[in-house]
Amino acid sequence: MQDSFVHKGKRKILVEYLRVKIGISDENVLKAINEVPRHLFLESVFEDFAYEDRAFPIAANQTISHPSTVAEQTELLEVQEKEKILEIGTGCGYQTAVLVTMNAFVYTVERQKDLHDFAQKKLREMHLRPKFQSFGDGFLGLPTFAPFDKILVTCGAEILPIELLKQLKIGGKMVIPMGKTDEQILYRFTKISEKEFEKEEFGAYKFVPMLQDRNK
Ligand code: SAH
Repeated sequence: MQDSFVHKGKRKILVEYLRVKIGISDENVLKAINEVPRHLFLESVFEDFAYEDRAFPIAANQTISHPSTVAEQTELLEVQEKEKILEIGTGCGYQTAVLVTMNAFVYTVERQKDLHDFAQKKLREMHLRPKFQSFGDGFLGLPTFAPFDKILVTCGAEILPIELLKQLKIGGKMVIPMGKTDEQILYRFTKISEKEFEKEEFGAYKFVPMLQDRNK
C-alpha cells in the first residue's frame, strides 16, 4: 500500500468532518491528522474505509480508535512542540504517529508483543520516530524517563493508575478513559501540586480495557 492522491483527498474530507461535525479546533491536531496516512496502519481489507470515522480490529483482539476519538483525546492533551508525552497503549501506532507528527517527544508503552513489534516496524518505515517504544505494562508508566509534560491513555482503566499521576510534571495533564469494560468516561487530570489534581469530565466513550501485566 502507498499513500496516493485519493487517500490524501479522503483525509481532507475527514479533517473537515472533524472540524465541523466533531468541533475539533486545534489546528495542529487537524494538520497532523491530515498528514498521517491512517490506511497504512490497517489491514488492506479496510483500506477503502480508513478515512471514515470508524474503529477497526487490529492484531491481538485490539482496535484502532475512531479518528474522532484520537482527535478529541489529542486536543484535550493541549500538545505543544517538544513536550515529553507518555502514551499508554501504542496499539498499531496511529495515535503515536499523530503525536510524533506534532513534534512531541513521544514515549509509548504496549502490553501486546505483536502490536509493539508491528508499531515499531510501521513507524520506522514511515520515518516517524518516537523517543522510546516499550513492551511493558502501562500501569507502571516509564519511571526512568519521568516526569512527563503529558500522559495519554488509549485504553479504559477500571482503577486510576496512581503511578502515572506520580510521573506527571506539576502543571502537566493526563487524559484517560475510566470505568467498567462496556463504557468509560473520558477524564483530564491536571497536576496542581504533588498531592492536588484538578479533574474534568468529557463524556462517554468505549475503549478496549487497560489490563495488568505484559502479555508474552
Ligand atoms: N493508540 C491506539 C489505540 C490502541 S487500543 C490507536 O492509535 O488507535 C489500546 C491499546 O492499549 C491496545 O493495543 C492494548 O493492548 C493496550 N493496552 C491495554 N492495557 C495496557 C497496559 N496496561 N499497558 C500498555 N498497553 C495496554
